[in-house]
Amino acid sequence: MTDTSLSELQHEFCLKPNQAEGLRIITNDSSNIFEAIEKGRQFVTVAAMDQEELNNKDKVATMDVNFKELMDLDNRVRNQTLTMRALADRIMSGEKIKDIMVPYEQVQKSFEDEWNNNEKRYNASEKYSAFRQNIWNIHHPDEIMPSLDENEDDDIVMGSTKISLRCPLTTAWLQDPVTSNLCKHTFSRAAITDLLRQSGGSVPCPIPGCNKRIIPLCLIADDIMAERVRRARARDEQNASTSQYFDVE
Ligand SMILES: [Zn+2]
Repeated sequence: MTDTSLSELQHEFCLKPNQAEGLRIITNDSSNIFEAIEKGRQFVTVAAMDQEELNNKDKVATMDVNFKELMDLDNRVRNQTLTMRALADRIMSGEKIKDIMVPYEQVQKSFEDEWNNNEKRYNASEKYSAFRQNIWNIHHPDEIMPSLDENEDDDIVMGSTKISLRCPLTTAWLQDPVTSNLCKHTFSRAAITDLLRQSGGSVPCPIPGCNKRIIPLCLIADDIMAERVRRARARDEQNASTSQYFDVE
């Protein structure tokens, strides 16, 4: 950078490319926020399952609102990350931005508008579908939930993949389940941890047909799966005729 352009930049208080790197670094911190939001989603889901069991429809409805608010928050943080990166790119490619808040708010608003104008933002979301499916399964343990969108026939119908509540590695009930945030496959914590330890810290996902790898960082404690196992085991003890699988997505 020449002296002229440096003094010019200092004079105009424009953001410099090295500061653009700072914008990118800020966005790296958002992974902690996403983890906290995921924890919140799990908490709300388990609480909603309890209230559904007690037939407290009002409380389930309130938790539905809470869940959607968490989705909005998740979207907002995601948009902030995208906005920062878009601005960093513009500054890196030489654009001189004096007041960062003006383009920041423009870009951010366009992302927010896109989200708010999308009527299917919740129903089309896998996470929201899973939330509703978990509530639905309280009173319909072995059934696939009807489509969330009454106007649609089948394009967002839940998949009918059978998810086992048993660990694919031990074949026993899932214990302290952890789910990969890369492929959504779930294992008992001790079993996958042992496998990782034997394999130098990284293994191909043991589920046939899955092409993702498992690393310790991608494994997230899955309170919802733990709750489903607890309920399924209780049902199992009640019913003499046992079945360890049920249809869910
Ligand atoms: Zn997998």
